[in-house]
Amino acid sequence: MSLIVTGSIGIDTVITPEGKADEVLGGSCTYFAAAASFFCDVRLVAAVGEDFPDSHEAVFKQFKIDTSGLEKRQGSKTFRWTGKYLENMNDRETLEVQPNVLAEALPPVPADFRDSGYVFLANTHPAGQMELRQQFPEAKLVVADTMDLWIDTANEELRGLLKQIDGLVLNDSEAKLLTGRSNHVAAAEAIIDMGPKFVVIKKGEHGCLLLHKEGVVALPAYPAREVHDPTGAGDSYAGGMMGYLAASGDLSLASIKKSLAYGTIVASFNIEAFSLERMKRLSRKEIDDRYAGFADMLRID
Ligand code: AMP
Repeated sequence: MSLIVTGSIGIDTVITPEGKADEVLGGSCTYFAAAASFFCDVRLVAAVGEDFPDSHEAVFKQFKIDTSGLEKRQGSKTFRWTGKYLENMNDRETLEVQPNVLAEALPPVPADFRDSGYVFLANTHPAGQMELRQQFPEAKLVVADTMDLWIDTANEELRGLLKQIDGLVLNDSEAKLLTGRSNHVAAAEAIIDMGPKFVVIKKGEHGCLLLHKEGVVALPAYPAREVHDPTGAGDSYAGGMMGYLAASGDLSLASIKKSLAYGTIVASFNIEAFSLERMKRLSRKEIDDRYAGFADMLRID
């Protein structure tokens, strides 16, 4: 069954202790779609401006992402984001953000995308996420991401969205901001009370926690040696997770647990280079091999 994603496509400038990348391809749905494309067909609904370079657009083709829902809007400019990571590679500062086309209307969903069974609402304004969500009343699984900006500035819209989705993926500081709880299990319980059936709290290099009505799962992160640019770690994690679920069609707790491990592995590759450079030369075999090593590492008799 097809997986559809909406969110931001950005032109990013990223500074990390390992270097700087200027005007590279980024955005929440970009990283998500590329990561998910290793598992299933991916459809994308997003807008860019007339300044969006053809070379960036070509990257979507490379990952065989269906871009019939990608609108290059005349008279508009592409979303731009500049971020700087601190020495620990976990915390980052946004130096500049230009919402541009993200502040405008969402592009229309192509008619032949309506049968998408799996929907991911990557990070963008919750009002836009809700608009897309409502166009898939029959979807088998709807999962959203969010960020501190929306928890602060669009809290009411976000609360409304939480009542309409199956799962929420967010990081630990966002979970604390949303719930006021610093204990991750307590924060996850408070989020379940807001609507979703499950929640995944990502803890960067400390792994992730899943709270689901049938149980709780905690996984470590893959012990990564090469970290050059953490941008898109969360989105590529979600892409691996949703891609695996859409490909398997199995939404049991055991399958969701496997999907978290696949998300962890895809994200561990993504952070090895700036922008999408590592995913561009990644193969499904590399993902499966690292997954097998990770599964072995976790086995305790
Ligand atoms: P992640 O590192 O997974 O949180 O995602 C990083 C990506 O999110 C970058 O490529 C940015 O272009 C994008 N991004 C940053 N801020 C925003 C925002 N306010 N809305 C949507 N996307 C954003």
